[in-house]
Amino acid sequence: MRLKSIELNGFKSFAKKTTLDFGSAITAIVGPNGSGKSNTAEAFRFALGEQSMKSMRGRRGEDLLWNGSQLIPRAGRASVRLSFDNTDRMLPLDFDEVAIERVVNRDGGNEYILNGSSVRLRDVTGLLAAANIGTSGHHIISQGQADRVLSANSRERREMVEDALGLTGFLYKREEAERKLAKAAENIREVAALRRELAPHLRFLQGQMKKIEDAQKLRGDLMTRALEYFKRESVYLRLARTLLEEERSSPASESITLAQRIEGLRAQVAAKRNDAGAGELVRLEAESRGAQGRREELLRQVGRIEGEIAAHERLARTVGPGLPAEETLRFAEEVEKNLEQALALPERELKERIKSLLSAARDFLKRLGRQDSPQQSADDLLEKKSRLESELKRLEEEEVRVAGAIRDLRHEIESEKDASREAERELFAAMARRSELEAVLSGLTAREGALAREADRFKTDIAEAAALAGHGLLEYESYEVRGADGERLSDADIFDDLPAGGQGRATQEERRHKIERLKIRLEEAGASGGEEVVKEHREATERDQFLERELLDLEQSAESLGKIINELSETLAKRFADGVAQVSTQFDTYFQTMFGGGTASLSIVEEKKSLRGAHIEDDDLEQADDSDELSDEEEETEEGIEVSVSLPHKRLKGLHMLSGGERTLTSIALIFALSQVNPPPFLILDETDAALDEANSKRYGDMIEELSKKSQLILITHNRETMSRAGVLYGITMGSGGASKLLSVKFEEAVAVAK
Ligand code: ATP
Ligand code: MG
Repeated sequence: MRLKSIELNGFKSFAKKTTLDFGSAITAIVGPNGSGKSNTAEAFRFALGEQSMKSMRGRRGEDLLWNGSQLIPRAGRASVRLSFDNTDRMLPLDFDEVAIERVVNRDGGNEYILNGSSVRLRDVTGLLAAANIGTSGHHIISQGQADRVLSANSRERREMVEDALGLTGFLYKREEAERKLAKAAENIREVAALRRELAPHLRFLQGQMKKIEDAQKLRGDLMTRALEYFKRESVYLRLARTLLEEERSSPASESITLAQRIEGLRAQVAAKRNDAGAGELVRLEAESRGAQGRREELLRQVGRIEGEIAAHERLARTVGPGLPAEETLRFAEEVEKNLEQALALPERELKERIKSLLSAARDFLKRLGRQDSPQQSADDLLEKKSRLESELKRLEEEEVRVAGAIRDLRHEIESEKDASREAERELFAAMARRSELEAVLSGLTAREGALAREADRFKTDIAEAAALAGHGLLEYESYEVRGADGERLSDADIFDDLPAGGQGRATQEERRHKIERLKIRLEEAGASGGEEVVKEHREATERDQFLERELLDLEQSAESLGKIINELSETLAKRFADGVAQVSTQFDTYFQTMFGGGTASLSIVEEKKSLRGAHIEDDDLEQADDSDELSDEEEETEEGIEVSVSLPHKRLKGLHMLSGGERTLTSIALIFALSQVNPPPFLILDETDAALDEANSKRYGDMIEELSKKSQLILITHNRETMSRAGVLYGITMGSGGASKLLSVKFEEAVAVAK
């Protein structure tokens, strides 16, 4: 890599665009005081990303912009561009030429441009570190700052040495790795915190899931048990119903027949009880009594007629016609007797007695005077008697007939009474049978009722169980019940197993009881919102697993970062120790060259880490970038570099004992030693040679030529000796407008210009 040119525009005293080409190993910049030479050195710092305003002699970014004069107005922006030949690809960019440009605006805003593209400061410093151009600026020695390497404390010195040794890249990498590690640690904490936050919720969801799974298991159990139970119950209900129907059929039909029979028997018994026969008997008996009565009347009439006939015969024999004497006498005596009695009677009864006597008298007279002939009367009476006797005979026959009829009727009535008793007996037997049948039928009805209740319960049970275990349960009919041997049981087998009231039924009740218990447990499990919980649990688990993986990744990357950091630290420690040893040797050599003897060395020392903040004294151009923050008091020890010198012929030791010139010589020896061990691409020395006497100027010139073999040198100088070693000389003068003006000059002119 080779520095090709620097282009300044509006930077400090360079009001107009000014370009310096570096076509030679040694370029000297000469000019009078205040012409702007040191400004060019600061332009390098600026373009390379210098953040310290102080090292560019400014307080604010604005101070870097051409401030204007009476002739030239002030600049709105300052820019410096460095061009490098990168054909050797020392800068890790696939370009033959690399231009790094930095722009600062009046408002203080900075811009970094790499080959025309805007980049970050970090990109620039990273790129430069690869080409051994560190940020400590050991390759740019500002005016009067040569002994900075001596006046710095051991830690700052160590940083300069690290930079000069080209360890910045490693340091940079290590810092990067440490930053990443810190970030990873932070992420680990965050992710771990997230996981911790999630944990209770996840545990809760796991508990819920357990409940759901338990419920699922219970549901499965319920399903299996319920399928078997319902299948068995269904078979039982169906077959039990059929059986009951069969059992009922015979008593039912017998009951119907029996009812008809009872009806018939009742009618029969009722008919026998009817009193027709008895009525007929009464009539016949009355008829018999009537005939008897008439016969007796007729017998009386016959008797009277026989008496009359006898009287007639007596009369006819005695007096002929008229009344017998003694009868007339008996009549007269009768009348006399009645009349005498009548005298004693009351008047009303007397009249009645007289009427009766008169009637008796008239009767007597009539018998005396008006009587038929006794013969003719007797004939009439005989005729009348025979008539009555034939009538009597007829009546006697009639009586015999009626008596016979009564006898027959009585017999008939007796035999009918026997027949009626038989029918009643049968009726009672039928009614007894009917009671039996009714008992049987009501027994059946009771069993049917019980079965109907079981069927109702069955329906309710199915609805409930299906609600809990799922509708698959409704397919219970197609469930195959298996016996102990695993054989499929037929409906008949199942029914045999389930006789009503028997052991099978009890077993079935146990099954139902178990199902009821399962239902209760399922309800208690409260598996509501199952799907939501499952979803939430899945999401939470996935999130937890994601976080776990994330944590693992982070821990792995933290681990590998830790490894990288350790490796880098080891490399750094080794290179640093080796480098310091080499620099020490070179330092000793240059020191002896400069002083013509004596010894000088560098050594690594352990010292307490000082306050980091103490050396940050400059205003930062950019606050955002690289503003490391370390805790103020860290008790750790760190490595520093000590410089030991021993002048020839002098017993005094220690840097503070050196004269100004000695101090400059020692500084130069150290700067050159550093450059020798790890040569930077270019080295800018701003009047480092100012304090040298002639002899030392010569030695300085020799060492410069030696160094220029490895690094491009840009020397700002008033020293003639130094100018004489340069291949290219630039003169800078202050123009009339107050701006720096560049001119190429020859050696002789340069000497003149430099004055
Ligand atoms: P010496 O030989 O004395 O070291 P020099 O050539 O190194 O001198 P510089 O220090 O580079 O001189 O230049 C300083 C000059 O640049 C000063 O005169 C100063 O006024 C001028 N200068 C500095 N900053 C600005 C600015 N922002 N605008 C204009 N001029 C500036
Ligand atoms: Mg100067």
